[in-house]
Amino acid sequence: QESLQGKAAFVQGGSRGIGAAIVKRLAHDGASVAFTYVSSDEKAQALVKSIEASGGKALAIKADSADESSVRSAIDNAAQAFGKIDILVNNAGILAFGELDALTIDDFDRTIAVNVRSVFVASQQAARHMPDGGRIITIGSTNADRIPFQGGAVYAMSKSAIVGLTKGLARDLGPRGITVNNVQPGPVDTDMNPADGEMAEGMLSFMALDRYGKDSEIAGFVAYLAGPEAGYITGSSLTIDGGFAA
Ligand code: NDP
Repeated sequence: QESLQGKAAFVQGGSRGIGAAIVKRLAHDGASVAFTYVSSDEKAQALVKSIEASGGKALAIKADSADESSVRSAIDNAAQAFGKIDILVNNAGILAFGELDALTIDDFDRTIAVNVRSVFVASQQAARHMPDGGRIITIGSTNADRIPFQGGAVYAMSKSAIVGLTKGLARDLGPRGITVNNVQPGPVDTDMNPADGEMAEGMLSFMALDRYGKDSEIAGFVAYLAGPEAGYITGSSLTIDGGFAA
């Protein structure tokens, strides 16, 4: 039997990159998966079709993570469709990268809204639909622990905020057997951080392993945390970064 058979999952930001790999993996492991996106209509629909073609259940919902009411109603809609939400994955994130002088207050506020506030909103709303023993997993970043180049101050701050939020939520939801964890990837080949992009050489110079990570490697770790064997891990920030922070 598949490890997530009968489970319902909700992924914030699932149309591309790491989020899409997580959607695919959770569906492959037997979960029904709802996911949000903000602009990639075609990619979102194609992902739903490919999951349905292999016998899975998926639902794409357009909802900007920066908008509180959109996130809440997306979660309520998914809970209505599936009857519950067992697994919440907060993956949506943006990278406002630039010289100190170039970053604007809008960059700052939108980073907080998408990378931090949406995690609080979604966790609060999903917990209302979550049976005992559920799972909340946020995709943070190894940059919470190490930011060894210029231009990443605001991004690093947003990912550090997830460390504390994860600890507090783990305390709040522990009595219900719900675990809350933070997965901190290093460089992963996606549109945000292409392995053949301008930043790649610098990234590799900070690492123990001489390669970018694959989205499927992050998805496999998330699937483990979402599964039945990981019920004693909570409040943790778990790094999967090829040794970037070592
Ligand atoms: P991508 O930019 O490749 O994909 C981002 C995904 O999130 C897309 O599906 C996008 O939807 C969605 N998204 C972005 N903003 C919003 C929003 N406001 N509302 C709803 N959905 C949104 O990013 P990655 O896959 O690289 O990153 C995923 C997560 O992993 C992020 O939190 C990132 O910070 C983190 N991370 C990434 C690393 C990397 O090297 N790639 C390293 C460490 C952490 P749409 O397609 O509609 O735009």
